[in-house]
Amino acid sequence: MPGFEVFGEEEKQQVLEVFETGVLFRYEFGEQRRGVYKVREFEEAFARYTGASHAQAVTSGTAALKVALSALGVGAGDEVITQGFTFVATWEAIFDAGAVPVFTEVDETLNMDPADLEKKITDRTRAIIPVHMLGAQARIREIKAIADKHGIPVIEDTAQAAGARLDGQHLGTFGACGTFSFDSVKTMTTGEGGMVITNDEELWRNMSEYHDHGHDHVVNPGGRGGEGRRFIGFNYRMMELQGAMGLAQLAKLDDMVASQKKTKARLKEAASAIPGVSFRTILDEEGDSATFLAFMLESAEQAAAVNQVLRDNGAGAIAFGENTWHFYPKWEHLMAGSTLCHNGWPFSLEGKRRVIYDPEALPKSAELMSRTLVYQIPVKMKNEQLDTITAALAKAAAL
Ligand SMILES: *Cc1c(COP(=O)(O)O)cnc(C)c1O
Repeated sequence: MPGFEVFGEEEKQQVLEVFETGVLFRYEFGEQRRGVYKVREFEEAFARYTGASHAQAVTSGTAALKVALSALGVGAGDEVITQGFTFVATWEAIFDAGAVPVFTEVDETLNMDPADLEKKITDRTRAIIPVHMLGAQARIREIKAIADKHGIPVIEDTAQAAGARLDGQHLGTFGACGTFSFDSVKTMTTGEGGMVITNDEELWRNMSEYHDHGHDHVVNPGGRGGEGRRFIGFNYRMMELQGAMGLAQLAKLDDMVASQKKTKARLKEAASAIPGVSFRTILDEEGDSATFLAFMLESAEQAAAVNQVLRDNGAGAIAFGENTWHFYPKWEHLMAGSTLCHNGWPFSLEGKRRVIYDPEALPKSAELMSRTLVYQIPVKMKNEQLDTITAALAKAAAL
């Protein structure tokens, strides 16, 4: 999965071009930068690659979510619906925007359950954030149809699914916007970094200005200092070194995905031999970015027994039901409402709790997670590593 596996001359060359100008800032420095605008170029290339009309680079995938929410006008008093199986960043961004996260169940896609989404919509819902977890598609068309019926914008958290598509269309282009992460363990990486893509020019303009302290970016004789602003913003600017890295990594993305697909197919075949095994529902195998293989056993007990054999044979799988960063009941700080803020914000307002989370509120997801095992698929898997895992899976099949 991580793009750092393929760092090479291309990344080095891109980064060197930035150092040769000495300009790390994405704006200004007209003469000194000698026409080198790496972040801008990366935005253009990413938009072209995904088929979106606009792309806004930011500092991280978390920032991308925050910028998208802010540009959509989400704030205090609002609810934003996301799924109970995601990385903590998704709901951190919702709280940071002032809103309250509401969590849905996931289904066998390991992504948002549309039926549960429908139940969780209230007159306070201001955005819906399905997450394309573990590299593959949420039921984005169904989710979008439900959202449209209620007039609520969809932000696709595509942090884990760069390069993934549904019926040929890139994930992140179905909703009002799609957010990406290029952190150190993502499929394509700029070290830290993120992107928001959209086909809505006005939304993009809001994001562009919001992410840069409100600068309106209208060329004027006073330069940057003379620019106006329409509203308050913040600083989520990507810098040139990251843009340079992004250009080199984006050019390798489809090859990385192709390589992961081959490895995933071999692991899937080996896992198929386990009695009672089933696989996560992938809506479009061709469009899967194949960063992970997720398989389900018939019960939590069987999953634990299988994983014990896999561990004993040097190939333990990830059990997201136990993992503390990605699954709802394991977020103890969310459950407890732990915050540094002296008055309890964002969990409390004026001495009263705004929201209390029940760790048992998502029984369907919990049941699913308890019997799901996951392998991360590296871009380059050594033959002996593949042999170790397939041999361990064969042992588990003979259990
Ligand atoms: C990684 C990730 C993020 C956050 O991205 P960062 O660049 O690490 O801030 C958001 N959502 C999901 C689902 C992620 O996996």
